[in-house]
Amino acid sequence: MTTPTTPAPSTPLPAATILGYPRIGPDRELKRAVESYWKGATSADELRAAAAGLRRATRERLRGLGLAGPAAVPADFAYYDQVLQVTSALGAVPPRFAHLRGGAGHGHPGLGLEGHFTVARGQGDLAAQEMTKWMDSNYHYLVPEIDESTPLDYVPGFGAIDPTDGPAAQVLEALAAGEPDPRPVIVGPVTYLLASKPADGAAPGFRPIDRLDDLLGAYGHLLADLWAAGAQWVQIDEPALVADTWAVPREEILAAVHRACTWIAAIVERPQVLVTGAYGSLGDALPVLGATGIEAVGLDLVAGALPRAEELAALGGKSVVAGVVSGRNIWRTDLEAALAALECLRNALPAGTPLTVGTSTSLQHVPHDVEREASLDPVIRSWLAFADQKVGEVLTLARGLAGSRDAIADELARDASLRAQRATHPGVRRAEVRDAVGAITPADRQRPPYAERKPLQDARLGLPLLPTTTIGSFPQTPQIRDARAAHRRGELDAAGYEAQMRAEIERVVRLQEEIGLDVLVHGEAERNDMVQYFAELLDGFATTEHGWVQSYGSRCTRPSILWGDVARSAPMTVAWSSYAQSLTDKPLKGMLTGPVTIMAWSFVRDDLPRAEVADQLGLALRAEVADLEAAGIGVIQVDEPAIRETLPLRRADQPAYLEWSVGSFRLATGGAVSATQIHTHLCYSEFDVVIDAVDHLDADVTSIEASRSRMDILPAVAARGFTRQLGPGVWDIHSPRVPSTEECAELIGRAVDALGAGSVWVNPDCGLKTRGYAETTSSLGNLVAAAARVRDGL
Ligand code: GLN
Ligand code: ZN
Repeated sequence: MTTPTTPAPSTPLPAATILGYPRIGPDRELKRAVESYWKGATSADELRAAAAGLRRATRERLRGLGLAGPAAVPADFAYYDQVLQVTSALGAVPPRFAHLRGGAGHGHPGLGLEGHFTVARGQGDLAAQEMTKWMDSNYHYLVPEIDESTPLDYVPGFGAIDPTDGPAAQVLEALAAGEPDPRPVIVGPVTYLLASKPADGAAPGFRPIDRLDDLLGAYGHLLADLWAAGAQWVQIDEPALVADTWAVPREEILAAVHRACTWIAAIVERPQVLVTGAYGSLGDALPVLGATGIEAVGLDLVAGALPRAEELAALGGKSVVAGVVSGRNIWRTDLEAALAALECLRNALPAGTPLTVGTSTSLQHVPHDVEREASLDPVIRSWLAFADQKVGEVLTLARGLAGSRDAIADELARDASLRAQRATHPGVRRAEVRDAVGAITPADRQRPPYAERKPLQDARLGLPLLPTTTIGSFPQTPQIRDARAAHRRGELDAAGYEAQMRAEIERVVRLQEEIGLDVLVHGEAERNDMVQYFAELLDGFATTEHGWVQSYGSRCTRPSILWGDVARSAPMTVAWSSYAQSLTDKPLKGMLTGPVTIMAWSFVRDDLPRAEVADQLGLALRAEVADLEAAGIGVIQVDEPAIRETLPLRRADQPAYLEWSVGSFRLATGGAVSATQIHTHLCYSEFDVVIDAVDHLDADVTSIEASRSRMDILPAVAARGFTRQLGPGVWDIHSPRVPSTEECAELIGRAVDALGAGSVWVNPDCGLKTRGYAETTSSLGNLVAAAARVRDGL
């Protein structure tokens, strides 16, 4: 490695920019184009043309909104995922995908479009790469699988023919289209490796970060290629630096960053480099970056704190992009506060440091344009800023920073008045809700001891050993979806809709009786989504028409907006559940979504601590639990698949989070009488940091995902002294494959060995809403037969 040299900045960064923009398109154009290609309805050329059209529209939109000057417009397009974009360009795939390398043609080792999607989605027996959450967002990336010999190659000059439209291709395209200075965005080398997992068959102890030097070689070629293509700046995203929860020790991560940035800076022909650390504070990584020859750093000043003066001094005059406009939420930026933060930063930085106003993260986590939300209450709409409005905010703040406050006096005044109006708007603060939260006592979060509850529940429910159940939803058939769409359009009246849902519930109850399940469910036919269903019924939420955000690949969600105090004006699930219970003598399980999951999958108000919002939701759900009990429902499941996923990225922040998140669940369920059996469902089995939290949820029965890991985690769970009942999923519902009775019995046997027969429930991994009836009926049949077989052998 050579020593760092810092080329004199040829072009400075602009006064305002954004770190990235939604890729899916205002009308989910990318989703449609990609899915139509997958179905074979359109060709690869048509898909690439659609993607090029979307990129052109984005560039024009961003320039039209006023982003101006050099390198102001990011080029961050990805067909599926930004991490996969790197994997594809480098051909960095495990042996099962080796045949896809070279698919880009012209002797390049990278993947072509077809291979790119095969890695993302799998094909036949070829399992797709795993997906996991990007930092603490709701976006999911494809986890690279790296071992000692995974190819990490980049061939320069590939841009012109790159079928996956990677960064160099995007630069060439933008320049050809007249965009003067596109700024390519790539996932940084340290983050790429930390976000990877060791490939199957990697040597014991091997860690992807061990391949840093090889990866840097490839990035060197990539950067040279971007330079040759004409990029003046490149944005290298290193969000992994803000988390301290990686398995690699912090000192090693800092050493890797130093090595990577020093090496990159030493490349002679390269664009200037902006390294961003979004989703939190860079902390001790900031001085490390300062000591290298990169030209600029991006700070997240929304999730992260303003760095200390010494840390800023250590930047040695590098340009700073100050992320004061949130890329994560949909609220207007508090312009006064943001301007104050910018001024404070400018004063703390060495004199003359170039300062750019930016977003905290890419805007990929927010929808495009709030102006399109014609059905949203205009008052609530006026409080919101989606991606396009946020572009306006960075521009406003840049004008304010460059001139004086007077330059943006109108905007500051308007923002202050909207803010004041929001604070007093009916529903934002409801005395009865605040009083109820204020009156919560520790006893409200405490059920009688489990040892007392268990015999009462056993006596009431009369279940066999190894009771069988499902996680709640049954397949959402086209008829169900058609009925819901017709109802929404006003073509099917409420009575007609309800009759159809009841017929569906009856069918699902009968089916479960025929299969021989022990604890039945109503099947959730009436739920469009496990969070939106509740958001639509609770006070304090709004929903959007066009507010789609990418969850992964072509999958988008439309999060609800939690803007006011949450209250339940009427029961939400009781009619459906009690109708289902009226059809059967078997116990029927009521089904609710927990407070943490409702928050995790919504846009949550920024004017109240999250813990308080969670308790408001907890109280609303507690009332629902009481009504279900009063209607004779003896088993109630409160789903919390999101507790693990919103875990803070810094260890120091985790205990407080777990305290309020677990507390809100206990508030929701703490009023249930001893004889009511409370279940919870978590979608994962990465129990590591959360096992104690799961124990503290104090649910009588917890169902988890476990079939993919073949119950391997159960001995550890038992060793930790988990004493309640556990339903480790025995059927991986993420695939249509029907597990045999033998397979299910083997897994149940393993669970019994680990936990004891008295603690084990038999159920699938997760809800069945995405499955078809054919595999559902056969799989559940096998699951029930397997439970009986193991029970008989006890
Ligand atoms: N009860 C929900 C269902 O069965 C749970 C879904 C989930 O865990 N994501 O669909
Ligand atoms: Zn699940």
